[in-house]
Order: sequence, then structure tokens, then C-alpha cells
Amino acid sequence: MTALLLVCALLACALAPMFLRPPAVSSRGSVRQARLVSRIDSLLPQTQCGECGFAGCRPYAEAIAGGKADIYLCPPGGPVTVRQLEQLLGRSPAHPARGPAATPATVVAHIDEDLCIGCVKCVRACPVDAILGAAGQMHSILPAQCTGCDLCVAPCPVDCITLVPAAGKSQWQWPRPVSTMAATA
Ligand code: SF4
Ligand code: SF4
Ligand code: SF4
Repeated sequence: MTALLLVCALLACALAPMFLRPPAVSSRGSVRQARLVSRIDSLLPQTQCGECGFAGCRPYAEAIAGGKADIYLCPPGGPVTVRQLEQLLGRSPAHPARGPAATPATVVAHIDEDLCIGCVKCVRACPVDAILGAAGQMHSILPAQCTGCDLCVAPCPVDCITLVPAAGKSQWQWPRPVSTMAATA
């Protein structure tokens, strides 16, 4: 019995490194991957509009970091985001025709206010609160807030929303929060 216990103890000692060391390596890889995801995510506009085909900016960043998505899929980010992702990752869009130069021009939504019936459906669809209006009243777009994500177009029952070129806009991004800690310290 003692000999059996001794053999088991020796086997446990011999096998322990196989179970302990790989997770350490994998853990380091996970940390690197998480950092890469965060850096990619920080370049994305954070509108969470889903136009890239993913549930939001972070899932898209995870897909890019995992090599499962190309870098030109974010319309609100436009050519500027594609270039920033190229610089960060050292790779170009897999489809050459979808590079920054070929990324569609930045657009914003426009409402034909004579046709608007004030149904509020576009307001509910907009992920960045870029539409002003109340029930039964004419609605308007705030161009500076609009990302051109297109999500308000389909819900409009009278087809009075179109996307038009956005003069002077090349990228949409929430302003970064400014820390007041240094000023108050
Ligand atoms: S399209 Fe861009 S802004 Fe919209 S969810 Fe995807 S990454 Fe975020
Ligand atoms: S395109 Fe429409 S839904 Fe998208 S941000 Fe502009 S107003 Fe909002
Ligand atoms: S969905 Fe169309 S009709 Fe309804 S409030 Fe918006 S712009 Fe007006």
C-alpha cells in the first residue's frame, strides 16, 4: 500500500508541470490578445451601430484581433479608421478594392421635412441620438452627431430619409472623456 502511494506521488510530481506550465503561456497570450483587442477597440467610433456585421465595436475588435474580420467594415469610422487599423496591425484590407481610398465617402442622414409625419420610428432606431423631434412633429438630423450608419432609413414609413455626402467630415467618433483628476489633485 505504501509503495502504491509512493508511485502515485511520483507520478503526480512528474505530470504536474504538464498541467501547470501551458496555462501560464496561454495566460500570457490571452493578456496580449486582450490588449490588442482594447487597442483596436479604442480606434473604433463606439457608436455600437452594428453596421460592421457584429454586435458592437468590441465584438468587431475581437474579430479583427482574431483574424476573423477584415479592417474596412466600419462605415462610421471611414477611411481614417481603416488607415489607423492598418498602422496598428501592419496589414492592409484583404480586398484591395476596399482600402481607404475606396472606402465610401462619409455620409450623414437627411430628412425631407415636408414629408415627415412625425412617427418617431427613426428616433428609436438611431444609436447615437442624432435625430431631434417629437410625436406628430417634424424631425431633423443633427449632422454633427450622425454617423451615417443607415439604421434610420429602413424604419421610415414614408421614405423621407436619405444619406447625403457629409461636407467636411472624414470620421465620426465620440469625444474622449477628459480626466479632471490632474486638475483637482
Ligand atoms: S460599424 Fe463601426 S461603429 Fe458601428 S458597431 Fe461596428 S465598429 Fe462600432
Ligand atoms: S444615419 Fe440615422 S440612425 Fe445612423 S446615426 Fe445618422 S441619424 Fe442616427
Ligand atoms: S421615421 Fe420618417 S416619418 Fe417618422 S419621424 Fe422619422 S423621418 Fe419622420
